Amino acid sequence: MPLHDKFGRAITDLRISITDRCNYKCVYCRTGNEGALYGDLPFEDYLRMARVLVGMGINKIRLTGGEPLLRKGVVEFVRELAGLRPGGPMPEPLDIALTTNGHMLAEMAQPLKDAGLTRVTVSMDAVDPDRFARITRVPNGYDHVLAGIRAARRAGLWPLKVNCVLMRGFNEDQIIPFGMFAREEGVTVRFIEFMPLEEGRTWAPSTVVTLDEILARMAEYRPLVEIPHARSETARRYRFEDGVGEIGIIAPVSHPFCGHCSRIRITSDGKIRTCLFSVWDHDLHAEMRRGASDEKLADFIQGVVQKKEERHHIGEPDFVPASRTMVHIGG
Ligand code: SAM
Repeated sequence: MPLHDKFGRAITDLRISITDRCNYKCVYCRTGNEGALYGDLPFEDYLRMARVLVGMGINKIRLTGGEPLLRKGVVEFVRELAGLRPGGPMPEPLDIALTTNGHMLAEMAQPLKDAGLTRVTVSMDAVDPDRFARITRVPNGYDHVLAGIRAARRAGLWPLKVNCVLMRGFNEDQIIPFGMFAREEGVTVRFIEFMPLEEGRTWAPSTVVTLDEILARMAEYRPLVEIPHARSETARRYRFEDGVGEIGIIAPVSHPFCGHCSRIRITSDGKIRTCLFSVWDHDLHAEMRRGASDEKLADFIQGVVQKKEERHHIGEPDFVPASRTMVHIGG
């Protein structure tokens, strides 16, 4: 019986941030300060948390950060995770995914695949090297990321998704170029609406490029056909009418999908977050330090999941900013 929250949502999807350091300083995420704020834990601690949660019905684990590929030992960690077996009468293999900026992916894609990684999502916010450098505030990153995407495809890390956060004034003119990129590279490009989770607190409704706007712009390039998507999937999916190329749109601001949310997160310092927009964390690692058994950890997690928020309040008068920004939560 999978873990359920008090609104009846099954919790099957776990995101673990394995560091809150990042080698990019994307304008919509960070102020430009270097370094970690919260630090990270030994892999064996995340592994124990993951083992307990897999025993409670989690069947998907996504590694994130900060930048997860900065963490030495990540390939071995993936191998250990791949050894976990979800329970139930007909257990499926665990789905292990990774979200990365792709800067170090070219060398690591094959070892990660061999270790048991199932799939990868690469963040990339422009298909033009100069614009890419302006957004990430890192010179020469574009070629590394493109090489990373191609290496992931060669290694069979599939489906391969490329996530682009659109922010007005920076990259809304990249919509059609990304449509072309999806077709040429054979990847799914997913546009994400900018959320108020950035360090600089620059978000305003007017900075969000919405789902409707993205669809209208892409339709000027080529007609799109909507593809049915699973209820718990965050992205609305579309293919081009001629069957070549797929795009997705993740629209938490203009079309919230909280009612189907199946996720919980563990931060790099071992706290559980039940929503990106939570105003508090739940210290799972403190329970471990106090010597809790696996059964006690499972009880703690059960209790925390019952506190999962019904929905976020972005854009509403009662919106309270999350207690952490995206890079320190794990997106
Ligand atoms: N470093 C990795 C990467 O770049 O994918 C993983 C961490 S990053 C925080 C995870 C995802 O969050 C990226 O796709 C990033 O673009 C997205 N993101 C960061 N800040 C965001 C914001 N304010 N709104 C929407 N998405 C955001």
